[in-house]
Amino acid sequence: MAKERINVAMTRILVVEDESAVRELLAATLIGAGYDVIEAANGSQAQQLVSDRDPALILLDWMLPGMSGLEFAKWMKRDERLSEIPIIMLTARDEEGYKVQGLEAGVDDYVTKPFSTRELLARIKAVLRRAGSDGSELIRIDNRLEMDLIQHRVLADDNPISIGPTEFKLLHFFLTHQERVYSRAQLLDLVWGRNVYIEERTVDVHIRRLRKALEPHHLDELVQTVRGVGYRFSVRPS
Ligand code: CA
Repeated sequence: MAKERINVAMTRILVVEDESAVRELLAATLIGAGYDVIEAANGSQAQQLVSDRDPALILLDWMLPGMSGLEFAKWMKRDERLSEIPIIMLTARDEEGYKVQGLEAGVDDYVTKPFSTRELLARIKAVLRRAGSDGSELIRIDNRLEMDLIQHRVLADDNPISIGPTEFKLLHFFLTHQERVYSRAQLLDLVWGRNVYIEERTVDVHIRRLRKALEPHHLDELVQTVRGVGYRFSVRPS
């Protein structure tokens, strides 16, 4: 149980690298540093994972079979829902021209092979910090509700509240996407992940549980039902 709780809060990194030895080394390094790692050997596998598993950052090799790293980066930046995910490019070429091309494609940083573990981890940390998703920040609403993404805790009026992993993800999504209405289908896509075929009614079940957890602190009213549309998290009365 305790383990599951920590995993939910882990920062997930997608490693895209065709050379399995390098990919395994990267994965081991990142896991050792406390990250949750998913791996892809080419661009099309990466396209699938980036949609389904919602990584916080992508470590992307430039030289890939088929779709190059650069093409993959361009593809991501064209998709509104994926364009915010930061990318660190791995390249064997320390050439200015390549860096410029990458930066123009929206790549956030570079690591040149062969890389030092320390440099790689420092760059990852810096990029995550800039993107606001290094998991170190607390999300706070009105001093009434606080989420600690590292400790995987939710505090309401300074009291820890008990919340399941799905409700935690749902609340995290709401806190980072306030004042907007989402349909059940959108919530399934964005919180559960694309290509997860579960009924829309499942959303209602978890909304109900989330409200129940918030209710003793009179925070359940923040999770608002928008009739005929879906749900909205709002600090304004509905
Ligand atoms: Ca490669």
